[in-house]
Amino acid sequence: MKAIVYKGNKTIEVEELKRPEIKNGQALLKVKAAAICGTDLRIVDHGHHLIPEGTSRILGHEIAGIIEAVAPDVKTLKPGMSVAVAPNIHCGSCYQCMRGNSHLCDNHVAFGIGIDGGFAEYMVVPSKAIMQGNIIPMRDGTDFAQAALNEPLSCCYNGLGYTEFSFGETILIIGGGPIGIMHTLLANVMGASKIFVSEISDDRLGEVGKFGADIIVNPNKQNLKEVVLEETNGQGVDVAIVACPVASAHNQALECMAPLGRMNFFGGLPKDRPMSTINANLVHYNYLKIVGTSRQSIHQYVKTLRMIEAKKIDLRALITGRFKLDEANTAFKTSQIGEGLKNIFLP
Ligand SMILES: [Zn+2]
Ligand SMILES: [Zn+2]
Repeated sequence: MKAIVYKGNKTIEVEELKRPEIKNGQALLKVKAAAICGTDLRIVDHGHHLIPEGTSRILGHEIAGIIEAVAPDVKTLKPGMSVAVAPNIHCGSCYQCMRGNSHLCDNHVAFGIGIDGGFAEYMVVPSKAIMQGNIIPMRDGTDFAQAALNEPLSCCYNGLGYTEFSFGETILIIGGGPIGIMHTLLANVMGASKIFVSEISDDRLGEVGKFGADIIVNPNKQNLKEVVLEETNGQGVDVAIVACPVASAHNQALECMAPLGRMNFFGGLPKDRPMSTINANLVHYNYLKIVGTSRQSIHQYVKTLRMIEAKKIDLRALITGRFKLDEANTAFKTSQIGEGLKNIFLP
């Protein structure tokens, strides 16, 4: 089978490998769609502590496909089933797992990071992933490409939930990339009364309008705070999501917030520049809450997958590049230069 293998030293190679065999408790997935994510680009650029030097890894953690084969002792999956893959396999026994917070598991292992992932024709599913519900059967006919994108979508849903976003509220999303757009789509179906998106790239600004943002601002050309105050009767927004890796966006968002507002540092900052300066008095006098989130629980993954299946959330317009595994280098380059939105492999 073909696979895109990360070899360390900033290199990926398309390799012809033996189709994997499954052991007791395992299943074999025929990958139908696997999307490139910022995490994949970071692994290629900077490596990952779960991929020691000298090891190679098949990348890809945003995955959907068809069950090709199951070991005789696997009862919950059957060949031919269409499934989506929640990529974070939790340990089940650490303190956070026991509290029910499997997405905060100390010892979690992810497809495409700790074990081989979905940038391949076939992927082995370990028994733990099957037992713990990471492999989610979906309605036949569900678009595999959109199901692969359910991974980041469910991360955004987790973020909105933890930020206590609710019906009728106003929301500011800073960053109009795929993650900002997914927040926009979700905020719409979750009942936002007004959605602001702030984005500095004019190319992306043009795209964002297609996804249901009400007011789109380029903060290099307009005063974001003035626009937000004018459009919210001087109140500011109830919720702000920083969906970009830029520290200055934190305070920019704070200045736009209504009293009792909640804000999520959704986008991580670069590892070597993680500090951010904020006006703490805005938080103090306005009763603001600042939270951060990453990953998602399996339950959240299932909920957003059901919305894709039901066609209540449509991610098709986010997919701007479709590639074969052989085109790995072109696909990665397209993602690296930030051209388009999501690039996806259809093996
Ligand atoms: Zn991802
Ligand atoms: Zn755990």
